[in-house]
Amino acid sequence: MKKSYKTLLFDLDDTLLDFAAAEDAALTNLFKELQIPLTEVMKETYKMFNQGLWRAHEKGEIGRDELVNTRFSIFFEHYGKNVDGAEYEQKYRNYLKEGAQLIEGALEVVERLSQQFDLYIVTNGVKITQQNRLKRSGLLPYFQHVFVSEEVGFQKPRIEFFNYVFSYIGITDLDSTIIIGDSLSSDIKGANVAGIDSCWFNPFEKENATDSVPTYQIKRITELYEILNK
Ligand SMILES: [Mg+2]
Repeated sequence: MKKSYKTLLFDLDDTLLDFAAAEDAALTNLFKELQIPLTEVMKETYKMFNQGLWRAHEKGEIGRDELVNTRFSIFFEHYGKNVDGAEYEQKYRNYLKEGAQLIEGALEVVERLSQQFDLYIVTNGVKITQQNRLKRSGLLPYFQHVFVSEEVGFQKPRIEFFNYVFSYIGITDLDSTIIIGDSLSSDIKGANVAGIDSCWFNPFEKENATDSVPTYQIKRITELYEILNK
């Protein structure tokens, strides 16, 4: 049975904004600045280390500062080079905050849904980066508030993150709230933990090998119209 939703919580990266494109451009620019040729293998290696750190962060094993300030030192250590991780992170972040490539259909969907629902962003990340990317992409005006884990003090899928969001918005009826996101380990798991519905944005039709259970699954962001409108 379809519920009557009022509050839509949107994940940002790889749900509305194309993080892979932003990350790619930022890495390319960083390496250009460092005058180091960046190969596809190096890109994949960076992503592997970075994702490993994010997974550790989502499990609460390492803090956000440790994550961002060590990812480049860990990466370069792999290539036998000692660098100041925090300094490289700063350089990288300056490029990353320019990345505002939209997922196909995202701007139109958000604009149209904002006429009918209350929209919020719930994202794990760094506040200034996410704010800047939202602004540049044209998405920002359609959201009532942007919840960034750095500011909240907890990250998805932690129940504390969601409790903060619910209390800030003043949500008492969890049935009227749904989260839309691409990550099973943060968005859908978070929904399961918090007791709200969820829509898994799964454009590449990945298999769900986790114990997180989405209420809905979509391939294109425009499919939200069918789910949200009876
Ligand atoms: Mg995401």
